[in-house]
Amino acid sequence: TTSPPSDLEIARAATLLPIAEVAEAAGLRPEHIEPHGRHVAKIELAAIDDLADRPRAKYVVITAITPTPLGEGKTTTSVGLAQGLQHIGKRSILAIRQPSMGPTFGIKGGAAGAGRSQVVPMETLNLHLTGDFHAVTAAHNMLAAIVDNHLHHGNQLGLDPRNIAWRRVLDVNDRSLRNIVVGLGARVDGVPRQAGFDITAASEVMVILALSTSLRDMRARLGRIVVGYTYAGEPVTAEDLHAAGAMAVIMKEALKPNLMQTIEHGPVLIHAGPFGNIATGNSSIVADRVGIHAADYLLTEAGFGSDMGAERFFNVKCRVAGLQPDAAVLVVTVRALKTHSGRYRVVAGKPLPPEMIEENPDDVRAGLANLVKHIEIVRSFGVSPVVAINRFPTDFDSEHDVIRAAAEAAGARVAVATHVVDGGAGAADLAEAVVAACAEEHEFTPTYPMDACLTDKIEAVATKVYGADGVDYTPAAARDLARFEELGYGAFPVVIAKTHLSISSDPTLRGAPTGWRLPVREVRAAAGAGYVYAIAGDMRTMPGLSSAPAAMSIDLDDDGEIVGLF
Ligand code: ADP
Ligand code: MG
Repeated sequence: TTSPPSDLEIARAATLLPIAEVAEAAGLRPEHIEPHGRHVAKIELAAIDDLADRPRAKYVVITAITPTPLGEGKTTTSVGLAQGLQHIGKRSILAIRQPSMGPTFGIKGGAAGAGRSQVVPMETLNLHLTGDFHAVTAAHNMLAAIVDNHLHHGNQLGLDPRNIAWRRVLDVNDRSLRNIVVGLGARVDGVPRQAGFDITAASEVMVILALSTSLRDMRARLGRIVVGYTYAGEPVTAEDLHAAGAMAVIMKEALKPNLMQTIEHGPVLIHAGPFGNIATGNSSIVADRVGIHAADYLLTEAGFGSDMGAERFFNVKCRVAGLQPDAAVLVVTVRALKTHSGRYRVVAGKPLPPEMIEENPDDVRAGLANLVKHIEIVRSFGVSPVVAINRFPTDFDSEHDVIRAAAEAAGARVAVATHVVDGGAGAADLAEAVVAACAEEHEFTPTYPMDACLTDKIEAVATKVYGADGVDYTPAAARDLARFEELGYGAFPVVIAKTHLSISSDPTLRGAPTGWRLPVREVRAAAGAGYVYAIAGDMRTMPGLSSAPAAMSIDLDDDGEIVGLF
């Protein structure tokens, strides 16, 4: 007997279509396509208007229950479902985020799907793709350079060097850059001040890439970025510094979505990769504006659980885009429900505790409150939930039976999906369930009206989505919220930066926590991207590396092939 082929081996063995053929199947014309090699293309933004008179696709978000630190398979299920819809004769297009290279070389793990449900070529996807992340890094750091240059040349705007919010970014996990001092040396070497680096995915320029609806809109949002405040406390923008034009020039090509394919030759849009905690955790609006007229079903993955990425998908992305969602797929795994029993602890980068992979429907049952709560969250937005049981090799049918019964009792459609082993055929039942859910009567209902004040918006998400009893602000957070209202940011939607490992703000609370309040320590404005974010927990915007990062086992073999990537 031989062991099953690895993800990389399956991906390498796949035969790929020329990218022009993938584009054609999505209804894109040759003039919409800018090939980057044989298997990737950028899509001209003119395609948005050119396809606009075609029928509108059903719009489906793929989300999950509260995950373990390992992830529960939203990306694999997104790819599997896209293939599954094709398998039952529907045209599908998938839109996902571009993986960040920091984590690719940090914690080992697939970001392109798994087994027979992958986006290919996976090396291209996981490494530079067409350089959009590099463009974000360059545009972001250009603005940082202009800020420090402004201080050096007399600081005409009166920027307070101790009140500069704009840091630098890099797509490398490097904890030693979290806090640095810039401007050391002689007088000609700049003005010394404390500064720091975040990972590129945490850049406001990355969220701007994700939320912009057009090139003009992106240019305007870049101009509205607030880099810091004057001594008098007035915001200073990228426009004030005359930096936004150059940033838009650097970002121009990056705003074009990237086209790739699944192992079964379906179209996939890869575009933007904003962080899932302080940012929106969703792929770009322009990609979805192309995709919404390019198939019968547009699928998109939202980061983490439905309380995180999907909440922002509905309340922020859909509203900025002006797109109406039709259904939500809730990915659930046996391992995550067993974790919600509170009987196990799963650690990233470590194998599961061996007791966890024994047949134990009672452990699954003990974790069901989390699934039921996520079904309720999805339903609160007025869309139909479809529960996708992502089958792992270590699962037992008795365990799936428990999940199926609970999902049905909560009134949700449910299907077991074996797409990782079987490709699209393994997601045919899930595809049928999604088709039925989209056909149902539904009315999209965001959590709060945009004209509510910021505190009401934060409270609405905390109580109606998370199930908190209320919100507690530190005095500094309350003061900053009042100030943001004065500055005109009250019309923005909100993002709550909290742990993804619990529906609450306490990562150790499993299931569906009740009887807790959301503690907001600090609030910040992303005035360019156009949202205010409330920080409720320890947020790392520059990850560190473990003692044995993936980078230490990735190499080129004698034939020049990449080894150890997955
Ligand atoms: P998410 O997008 O929710 O973070 P991924 O799709 O990236 O999750 O999957 C997380 C990890 O679990 C990956 O390492 C992936 O290879 C693995 N995985 C997901 N689904 C399965 C499955 N059905 N069988 C085996 N491994 C899986
Ligand atoms: Mg994913």
